[in-house]
This record gives sequence, structure tokens and C-alpha cells, in this order.
Amino acid sequence: MKPVIALVGRPNVGKSTLYNRLTKTRDAIVADFPGLTRDRHYGSARLGKREFIVIDTGGFEPDAGSGIYKEMAKQTRQAVAEADVVLFVLDARAGLSAQDHDIANYLRKLAKPCLLVANKAEGMKAGAQWAEFYELGLGEVIPVSAAHGQGVRSMIEAALDRL
Ligand code: GDP
Ligand code: MG
Repeated sequence: MKPVIALVGRPNVGKSTLYNRLTKTRDAIVADFPGLTRDRHYGSARLGKREFIVIDTGGFEPDAGSGIYKEMAKQTRQAVAEADVVLFVLDARAGLSAQDHDIANYLRKLAKPCLLVANKAEGMKAGAQWAEFYELGLGEVIPVSAAHGQGVRSMIEAALDRL
């Protein structure tokens, strides 16, 4: 069985861009409009000889009322359930939002390996905005740029190390 890595996070953090980079396809819908990708997508990816499956998710529906279980799309819950490792994608430029805290609270309850990914970190100095992501209490934060590729290999190595 190939390991399964799920990309979760609020809309617009760059999950689909990361998915496309990992799977080298344009399969996921990349958009400037939050929440456009409603369904999850599966893709095959590899790092050297290690093959894995990536799941992209539409994340949280922006209009879906309050409460983590209402807000979190069913597709995203299923993706997390199917995953061996969850990559919780955050926006290093935007910093933490209430939605990020909601997702963190959900993930903290699950006994599932999880890595924090600070995306859009190109050109940012270490110790910059993503330092606050450690407050979420979910462990290591890995800065990446899904758009430019920096950090993506280290991120996958760290994810596969959690298996
Ligand atoms: P999703 O909603 O989480 O799937 O996010 P998308 O992949 O659709 O990306 C949302 C927006 O962020 C798009 O405008 C992307 O071009 C942009 N984006 C994604 N990754 C990066 C990155 O590494 N750096 C920067 N600056 N922008 C990014
Ligand atoms: Mg998307």
C-alpha cells in the first residue's frame, strides 16, 4: 500500500497549488476564489523511489455556519480519515486566522500524524510570521513555497518520516 498524504487547510492557502506540484498535473482547480474546489482529488506522486498518494481537498465551506463539524466539508473529513499523514497547510503571509484555530482543534483530537506547512514563504526570513504557527501546538512548522517549489522536498521527507 502506498502511503496517503492529505492536504487540509482553509481556502486559499495554496493546497491545490501544492497538490499540482506534487503530482505534476493540473488536475486540481487552482483559483483565486476561496472554496472553489469542493471535492477531493487523488493523485500519484513520488520522491525518489518512494511513491505516495496525495489528496487535495476543498477545505472548509466559507458559508457553512459555525462549528467545526458544520464548517468542515465532509470530503475533507473523509480525506483526513483516509490519510496516513495530514499536511495542515497555512498561509505564512496571512498568519493565523480563526479558521486555522478551528482546524487545529479538530486535528489535535485525532491521533494522526500531522505536519504544519507554512506556504507562500518564498522570500521570507526564518523566524518571520510562521513562527506563530507553533502556538497551534501541533509540532514542527515547515516553510514552503508551493508556487516556486522551495521546501517541498523537505516537507515530503518529513511527512514520509512520520509513517
Ligand atoms: P487552495 O484554496 O488552498 O487550494 O489554494 P490555491 O492553490 O487555489 O491557491 C490560492 C492562491 O494562492 C492562488 O492565487 C495561488 O496562486 C496562490 N499561491 C499558492 N501557493 C503560493 C505560494 O507558494 N506563494 C504565493 N505567493 N502564492 C501562492
Ligand atoms: Mg483548492
